[in-house]
Amino acid sequence: MNVLVTGGAGYIGSHAVKQLVEAGHNVFVIDNLCMGHRAAVHQDATFYELDIRETEALTEILKKNNIEVVMHFAALAVVGDSVTDPISYYDNNTLGSLSLLKAINAADIKKLVFSSTCATYGEPEEVPIVETCPQSPINPYGTSKLVFEFILKDYAHANPDFAYAALRYFNVAGSAEDGTIGEDHSPESHLIPVILNTVLGKREKIIIFGTDYPTPDGTCIRDYIHVQDLISAHITVMNALQPGDNRFYNLGIGNGLSVKEIIDATKAVTGVDFKVEIGDRREGDPPALYANPTKIKSELDWSAKYTDVKPIIETAWNWFKNNPNGYNDK
Ligand code: UDP
Repeated sequence: MNVLVTGGAGYIGSHAVKQLVEAGHNVFVIDNLCMGHRAAVHQDATFYELDIRETEALTEILKKNNIEVVMHFAALAVVGDSVTDPISYYDNNTLGSLSLLKAINAADIKKLVFSSTCATYGEPEEVPIVETCPQSPINPYGTSKLVFEFILKDYAHANPDFAYAALRYFNVAGSAEDGTIGEDHSPESHLIPVILNTVLGKREKIIIFGTDYPTPDGTCIRDYIHVQDLISAHITVMNALQPGDNRFYNLGIGNGLSVKEIIDATKAVTGVDFKVEIGDRREGDPPALYANPTKIKSELDWSAKYTDVKPIIETAWNWFKNNPNGYNDK
């Protein structure tokens, strides 16, 4: 299939491009390179440096390449930043996605797989989280994604032959098993890469954001899914989409781990001890988010291969130790 990947130079998008190319698809990438890396894009994909808010140029690319399906990853994705800079989050994530949908509409494309988030659930009343759990985000990042879920629902209602899936990710971690691509954000804020930068001595310490949460060890609980599993789920969903489909799936492994447990697992994987400090809570962080992943298993027979966090951290560590300066392009 001819697949357009937005944000295909970013961490998750670049893994999608690689797996789609390896599965034999013709892959086209757009990315504004504000966070992404040109070197992360598989050499067999066609690359356009473009912002998703450029509706007309985007429409041309979709038409010219006879795109059949869009995988939409391009977004800002740092919860804390969304609290301090909501305008950028609504501009990039919500208005950017609307711009993409306008182009999809103009080019008459019938399939979209959208990268949504468990942050749309806010502070869920019950964990593990099922897809029917009320969505009430507690940070602008979650809201910026949820608004586009609403937009898609209305667009699909008005266009009955359009098919889409909103995939609500939990915490994505790890890197390609062959070591060719990995995670490189600057600045880095996500837990596992921050810890690995500390292991490498690039940071002096890791600060735990709050130890007074209502969880067994007082630190926040999250569900860490390997990036390759996440993308294999996208490809399974893409292949299953039929006209009129509105699909929603949680993508997690269903296992909640605390910040302290992740720190201990990383010490075990790397064999390196490092300085850990207790800090204040970070605004916008819900205490516990982990998935009930049974819906995608029962409907599409998909489940994650990586069910334990240590092998996930091992793949991340493999990338970090071999690429201590990441892609070295910023
Ligand atoms: N976290 C932390 N210290 C850090 C980075 C993250 O304690 O330096 C915590 C954060 O508060 C959250 C969890 O680790 O509870 C995962 O955070 P991350 O930013 O990786 O992902 P998020 O859950 O915000 O999408």
